[in-house]
Amino acid sequence: MPRYIFITGGVVSSLGKGLASAALGAVLQARGYKVRLRKLDPYLNVDPGTMSPYQHGEVYVTDDGAETDLDLGHYERFTGVSATQGDNITTGRIYKNIIEKERRGDYLGATVQVIPHVTHEIKSFVLSDAGDVDFVLCEVGGTVGDIEGLPFFEALRQLSQELPPRQTCFMHVTLLPFIAAAGEMKTKPTQHSVKELRSIGIQPDILLCRADRPISDSDRAKIGRFCNVRESAVIQGLDAKSIYDVPLAYHAEGLDSAVLAHFGIEDAPDANLARWEGISKALAEPDGEVNIGVVGKYTILPDAYKSLTEALVHGGIANEVKINITWLESDMFEGDDALTHLEGLNGILVPGGFGYRGSEGKIRAAQFAREHNVPYFGICLGMQMAVIEAARNMAGIETAKSSEFEEIDGENVVGLMTEWTRGNERLKREGKSDLGGTMRLGAYPATLTEGSLVAQIYGTRNIEERHRHRYEVNVDYKDRLEAAGLKFSGLSPDGVLPEIVEIPDHPWYVGVQYHPELKSRPFKPHPLFAGFIKAAKTQSRLV
Ligand code: GLN
Repeated sequence: MPRYIFITGGVVSSLGKGLASAALGAVLQARGYKVRLRKLDPYLNVDPGTMSPYQHGEVYVTDDGAETDLDLGHYERFTGVSATQGDNITTGRIYKNIIEKERRGDYLGATVQVIPHVTHEIKSFVLSDAGDVDFVLCEVGGTVGDIEGLPFFEALRQLSQELPPRQTCFMHVTLLPFIAAAGEMKTKPTQHSVKELRSIGIQPDILLCRADRPISDSDRAKIGRFCNVRESAVIQGLDAKSIYDVPLAYHAEGLDSAVLAHFGIEDAPDANLARWEGISKALAEPDGEVNIGVVGKYTILPDAYKSLTEALVHGGIANEVKINITWLESDMFEGDDALTHLEGLNGILVPGGFGYRGSEGKIRAAQFAREHNVPYFGICLGMQMAVIEAARNMAGIETAKSSEFEEIDGENVVGLMTEWTRGNERLKREGKSDLGGTMRLGAYPATLTEGSLVAQIYGTRNIEERHRHRYEVNVDYKDRLEAAGLKFSGLSPDGVLPEIVEIPDHPWYVGVQYHPELKSRPFKPHPLFAGFIKAAKTQSRLV
């Protein structure tokens, strides 16, 4: 049976609980253990799929087509273990399951209550399908004291009693603020948040204290004493230069040792952190820089493009360069002098997005990249914009547009997808179906054209990548666009859905209908990101 580590947060949100969980998973892995990471989200949405990126940041899509919390992206990037539908649950999903059961009569006349029914559903989720891993790390979203979180804390408290002794560990992530006026670091917020946890019956075993400067021994002793935590289990979590330094840093602070000591594991192998050391070094000592412009709609919120940013960093690791990202709000390309913003960039990337607002700007950015021989990478909506641009300006289809853009009239070169194949199954959508969970989601195969740039980059003609889209380039335009110079170098195996376009007569111009950023890892950069950055690096050395 696996051991369970429950990760909770206190004091404030945004302390890097997800990263801490991912880093702990990575370090346990470096000691030779098998890990699995899960996220419990107390909000009422069934999944984050319908939430605005401004509210929630990126929606991370798994191979099996779940729309999940972005922390699952951290888990995958740090451990290399592909997350699944079963690794993220929300209050909304739990209540949906319970209400369905209640309507079916499964509760046999019982009054359905938070305890035991909701807590039972949460516990079943935590224990479900753990496989043969050594540790399951379960992160609870939000902060202790949030009203929505209570059933989750209660369920985990119950589990800690129901499982055998030493089978569970509570790790609480808190903040030690430095108060400039007093010239002191304050432990009181941590004491209060632990008090809050203890008031609901949970005694943390490990405290990970986030701080912007070193924690003194006396503060550490004080925290241990007031929070009833062993001093060696009060771990300092300092801000790191790069998120990829965090596994090394937390290991050096003794986080994994404290976890193993809690479980009474005395014969743990030493951690082999060579791959993290390599990544840390590559990031600290780059051989040059490249400037990438990302033209999107949610650029004020970096979390909205989390995986994308990381995949670019991975592309930098592969090419030993530092990546400078310039975030460009697509709206700004609609003015006259707009394109000046694109000068000096070594590569332009248009990421995924939804809706008409900002899309004309993305089309102009794609045109600029094509005409000025700047490497261009279009992802999902960014591919659709590249196709519309090519249709309008290369193939003479002047009113080319997407049927997603209801605001304008014209010819729908990109249209609503209503049918597609998953394995042997034919999936259908109504034009007006629910918004949640109804896109073409998750991993689908594609076949690449022999001799194409992408076939060369991937080193194979058969790929599988993760999707999240409702619209699709209409394959009926393939011949006209190809004749104009835009090649369709990847299609769904049945030849119906265009997956990749490229312009052979250009230094690097690729559009993909899927999200390669979701599968990129620091120790295994995605080939398309590595290729794009390589082209951008070449460009940067030309000027
Ligand atoms: N809005 C487009 C679609 O639904 C693109 C989606 C995306 O970029 N993820 O097809």
